[in-house]
Amino acid sequence: MNELRCPRCGLAHEENDNFCRRCGRSLKPGRGFMNSHVGIIVMALIVGPFALPWVWTSKRISVVSKWIYTIILLAIGYYLVIACWKIYQMIAQSTQMLMGAF
Ligand SMILES: [Zn+2]
Repeated sequence: MNELRCPRCGLAHEENDNFCRRCGRSLKPGRGFMNSHVGIIVMALIVGPFALPWVWTSKRISVVSKWIYTIILLAIGYYLVIACWKIYQMIAQSTQMLMGAF
């Protein structure tokens, strides 16, 4: 059995520990739940394109997967911008109509 040690403080830790018990350093950067396929998809549904940092810091998914997620997230971002612009135009138009009625 090879002993794993915290790179910052040298405290021994278990293989499946994500954080050091003494100093709190992340022991598996890019390997948390947020960096898994499920984590990224969940984040994409909640924050959309803002899930991109987790895609690119992940060490659990392949480069091909990263590009696929990037394209999907950018596409979602693009449609969000278009949708916001359309809603803004609709509000602006209906405001003008209301103003014209008085
Ligand atoms: Zn430590």
